[in-house]
Parts: sequence; C-alpha cells; structure tokens
Amino acid sequence: MPTDVINKPDELFEIFVNAQTFKTILHSFDDLCRVLRIDRKLIGYGKRSLYKILTSKLTSWKSKSLWAKIDKRGLQKEYENGYACADTKVCIVGAGPVGLRLAIECALLGARCVVVEKRDRFSRHNVLHLWPYVITDLKNLGAKVFYGKFATGQIEHISIRQLQCILLKIALLLGVEIYQNVTFIDTIEPTLTQPNWRAHFEPVSHPVVSTYDFNVLIGADGRRNSLHGFQHKEFRGKLAIGITCNYVNHHTREEQNFEEISGVAKIYNPQFFNELQQQTSIDLENIVYYKNETHYFVMTAKKQSLLDKGVILQDYPDAARLLARDNVKFSQLCNFACEAAQFATKSTSQFKFEFAENHYGTADVQMFDFTSLFHAVNASRIVERNGKQILMGLVGDSLLESFWPTGSGAGLGFFGLFDTAWAILKFAKHEHPLKVLVERESVYMLLSQSTPENTKNNYQLYSINPATRYQSLNSKMCTIEEIRHLYDSDSIPTIDMNNNHIISTKTNRTPVRRTQSFKQIPSTLPSNGNNTEKETLLVDWCEEIVDTYAIEIKKDSKAFQNSLAFCAIIHHYRPDLIDFKSLQPDRPISNFQILFDIMHDQLSLPIDRKLQNSLILSMKSSIEERVRQSSIVILQLLY
Ligand code: FAD
Repeated sequence: MPTDVINKPDELFEIFVNAQTFKTILHSFDDLCRVLRIDRKLIGYGKRSLYKILTSKLTSWKSKSLWAKIDKRGLQKEYENGYACADTKVCIVGAGPVGLRLAIECALLGARCVVVEKRDRFSRHNVLHLWPYVITDLKNLGAKVFYGKFATGQIEHISIRQLQCILLKIALLLGVEIYQNVTFIDTIEPTLTQPNWRAHFEPVSHPVVSTYDFNVLIGADGRRNSLHGFQHKEFRGKLAIGITCNYVNHHTREEQNFEEISGVAKIYNPQFFNELQQQTSIDLENIVYYKNETHYFVMTAKKQSLLDKGVILQDYPDAARLLARDNVKFSQLCNFACEAAQFATKSTSQFKFEFAENHYGTADVQMFDFTSLFHAVNASRIVERNGKQILMGLVGDSLLESFWPTGSGAGLGFFGLFDTAWAILKFAKHEHPLKVLVERESVYMLLSQSTPENTKNNYQLYSINPATRYQSLNSKMCTIEEIRHLYDSDSIPTIDMNNNHIISTKTNRTPVRRTQSFKQIPSTLPSNGNNTEKETLLVDWCEEIVDTYAIEIKKDSKAFQNSLAFCAIIHHYRPDLIDFKSLQPDRPISNFQILFDIMHDQLSLPIDRKLQNSLILSMKSSIEERVRQSSIVILQLLY
C-alpha cells in the first residue's frame, strides 16, 4: 500500500489532536472516521466498539501512547471490559467539563452515550483550579497528548475552554456521540405507541436525538438546570461580588515575568490589600491570577469600593437588583479590573492590558453574585412509566454550585460525576430502584463537605466506586423512607406466575427464574383501578401467601407485630433463607432480629436502625401500610 495512504489517517489524527475549537474537533473526527471507513451504524454503539476499531487502525507513536493510557484506565474492574453497562443508553445534557467527563465514564462502562450541547463554541477563557486528584485523573486519560503544557511544574489550573477541548476529544475516541447546537427541552414519557423514554430537543427534527431512546438522563447543564423534578435549595451567605476578567497574553518578556497569584485573601496578606486600596481605592477580599492562554483574574470586591469607583450606580439591599445590568457601568467595570490587574502583576505603566473577547465578541469581564448559591436537594430520581424506568441525575454546577474563588468547582464536580457513574452502574445491574437511590443520596450527603484534605490520597486507586475516594463512607446513611419519594412509579408491585417464573408484569426488568413451584397468587392488578381496589388486591395476595402458614392477617393483627407474616412471605419465596418452623409467636424481638439480619445480609436491603424502627412501628399501623412494607421486601426478592 502506498505510504501516503498509510500515513493519511495518522495525519488526520494529528489534525484532530491539535484542533482547538468545538467545530474543528468534531469535523476532524468525522474526517478521521470517514478515511478509516468507519460506519457508526454498522459497528453499533456502546461496548467501546468504535474505540476498539480506532486502536487497531491508528498506530502512530502518539496514538499508541494515548491508547496505553486509556486502556489502563479501561481495565478498572468496575467497567467489566466495557460490558458493565452494555444495555444502557445515556443522554447527557450539557458539554461542560463535568458533562464530558461523565460521558467518558459512561463510554468506559460500555453504555451508548449521547451528549447534547446548546452552544456551538467553547469560549470560556475562565480558569478552573484543579485539585491534585483531578490532575492525576486527566493525566491518566492522556490529557498531555492533547495539551503538552497541561499541569507542568506547579501549574494546577486550566482554562474551561481547553479542558472542554481535551475531554471532548477523549469522549469522541471512546465512541460518545456529541451534538452541538441542540437544546434539551423536556422528557417524553413512554406510551403504548412509543414505548421508551425520549426527550424534546430543539431543533425538533434533529436526525439523531429526536428519535433517541434512553434509560438514563443526566443534567450537566450548569447552574440553570433544565431537568424537571429536582428541587434546589438556596444557600445565602453574606454579600460576595466576584469579578472575572481575561486579557490577551502576548507572551512578551514583561508578561513572562508576571507572577501568578494562586489565591490570596486579605486576612492572610493585609499589606497587599492595604497598598492596593491606598494606590487605587480598590478594596478586595481576595484575588487569584493565573497566566494561561490568557491573563485570568478572579477577585471578590467590596460593594462600597465598587460604588465609590462608579462601577455600581446605586446601592440596593437586594443583590440581584444591585448587580442588574442597568445598575452596572460596564466601562467603569473594565477600568476597575484593569487597575487591579496592573497592581497585582506589578506591570509597568507602558504595559496595557488588552481584554480578550468573550462568546459575544465583547471584553471578557464579568461580575457575579456569590451571595446565593444553589444546591440540588437530591442528586437522583427514578421514574417509571408504562413499565419503563429511567434514572435521572444531576452533576456539576446543576447539582452543587460552589464558590469558585476557593477552586472547588472542578474538584467537587468530578467527584459528583464519578458517584453518578456508580449509580448508573448499579441501575444497569438491575438493583432495586430504592437501593440505587439510597446509595446515591447517601454518597451525595458527603459531597459538599469534601476537600482534598479529607478525601483519600491514593489518587491512582480512584475509581467510580465511592469507597475508593471518600474516607468515611456510609452508603446507607439515608433511609428508604427518606428517599422513597424519589422513586416515582405508576406501577405498584405486581406479580405474575407462569411456569414457575416470577415476573413483575409492569417493569422492563429481567424476570427472575425460580426452581420451586409457588402457590398461585393474584397476578395482574388493574392499572386503572383506584388505590383502595389495588390495596384490597394486595391484601388478598398477602393473605393467600400466608394462608398456608396458618396465619390470618385480617383477623390476627399480631401476625405483623410479631413479624411472622413477614417471615412467611420471605419463606414462601426463599425457603433457603429462613427456618420458619423455628420462629416463636411469643418472641417478636428475636423474630424481628432474624428478619432484619436476612434483609441486610442475604437480600442486601439498605436497612438501618431508622428503617427498622419504622418497620416495627408500621406493624402497628393500618393493614395497607403493612402490606406496603411487605411489598418492598417482595420486590427486593424479585430483583
Ligand atoms: P458548565 O461548565 O456550566 O456547562 C454546562 C453546559 O451545559 C454549558 O456548555 C451549556 O451551554 C450547556 N447547557 C445548558 N443548558 C442546556 C440545555 N438545555 N441543552 C443543552 N445544553 C445545555 N469556575 C471557576 O473555577 N473559575 C471561574 O472563573 C469560573 N467562571 C465561570 C464563568 C461562567 C460564565 C460560568 C457559567 C461558570 C464559571 N465557573 C468558573 C464555574 C465552572 O465553569 C463550573 O464549575 C465548571 O465548568 C463545571 O461546570 P459544569 O460542566 O457542571 O457546567
């Protein structure tokens, strides 16, 4: 074969590696696939199928060094060689750093993954401070192949734009499908004619996403999260006004001598801030300066100083009104930022800072209100409609907005996305929805307090498994009662019996095979029946099961109080787990202990003291409540 033909894919790969915009990265990747005669539809999606073909066809030293890195990461046992989530289809809303990094995890797990991004450009020059584990993570994925300067020496930061470019390239190589200029609007529930979860996107007639079915939907769309069903809580602190600005880096000798300020606060270096105030009348609480593709500054300014310098026109107690566009004089904001930059870099009077351009083609300077930050109340939900379940989750700024000047945005963002990938894995493994939610929400409780100091420090061992990262992990911190509302199902436990198979007739889960013959029990419940009808049927169903154990639930209310009815239900399905004859009606405490041990040890039910208490209490409540509790156990038995 002629040399130029052999070399062409490698040359195209080089173009792809060096591409620096959203558009050119996507185009060069399309070119590469075309030249390699790769047809996505033919090779299929997920299971790392595209990646496997690329690694066999691209053999330059640069590509090989990249494959070596990705292959090493891909060997982590959670991924099961790219088959762990082979039947899972994920849709991620937002191609910010967190959405893209999550897409990489989904691809490594073997899922089909589609990312939609409403913008057509990566234009944020602003710089993210990176925690040490994030640097290790990115290096392990081959970030330096795409950006040689990444994390050289003491540099622990990267522009948002550059990070997106790196992650986009890795995601594409791993088979993630990414569509720009596509806005997620809302989910579409499954119906009889269209039996899968889909979404409304704009443009409505997009050739791929408009017909894409998925069972995992993740909101990675920044602070203005667009996924419905998630509540956010506002955390209000004292007024904090952040200013970010970016100036063109001409790489002159003078600029090369500017010293970075990795974060200095007034309380630690009052002299710096006092001198700044004396010389410029600018009063700041802290400042960060990073030299990157641009000169990037982020500072927290005192309100009075902004009023004195004419940046803010009028004082208002409400932060939103105070920083409203019509109350800010943009030219004065630019002057304010330039004066601070001039002082912080000790630049000469001849040197003039020139603003870089932002997304809108104007000077890249912005003022933010950090007074109120939003956290999602919950990280996940599982919704079931017409027998189809979907796991929904939030990551990144959608989940937890951090105070950037402390540099926690990417650090916490990456932690949260790994936790989400772990929940996707559990969901894909058909764990019971309540169990998936208990674990996800328990881990989420640790996120906001996590710092580089209180998390594990062997970064090479980090994986999506939270146990590899959090020091004091209790994955059952939440109780089922606390998260039950996050499982929104239009189905109630229904059981069918056919040829010794137990089937949940209203879900798409894989049926569990049993070898033992079961007593015939009422099967399909009317989907349009009212609650009383359903409960009556459930009670009948319970009665029928326990009948053979000489237990009558309706007449003998003690049957639940001493746990015999519960144990009978378990024994009916799993006689191997419980020696029913050994239970004594007059020893309720010991019966409950046996029951809880089985639930915890054998059925892996997330059962803790709070749940135990609520179960015991529910035994004293209505028959419907008792049946509801038993149905949790039964569902667990089925899956
Ligand atoms: P983002 O980076 O915000 O990405 C969300 C993506 O979702 C965006 O690309 C958006 O276009 C897309 N999107 C939104 N809605 C939809 C939709 N309906 N359909 C499709 N796509 C959608 N952190 C710092 O540490 N330092 C800084 O200086 C700094 N500056 C920032 C400046 C701005 C303007 C913003 C918005 C954030 C800044 N941050 C900064 C925060 C930092 O960018 C985030 O913590 C980090 O990028 C992780 O964010 P993310 O991926 O969760 O979301």
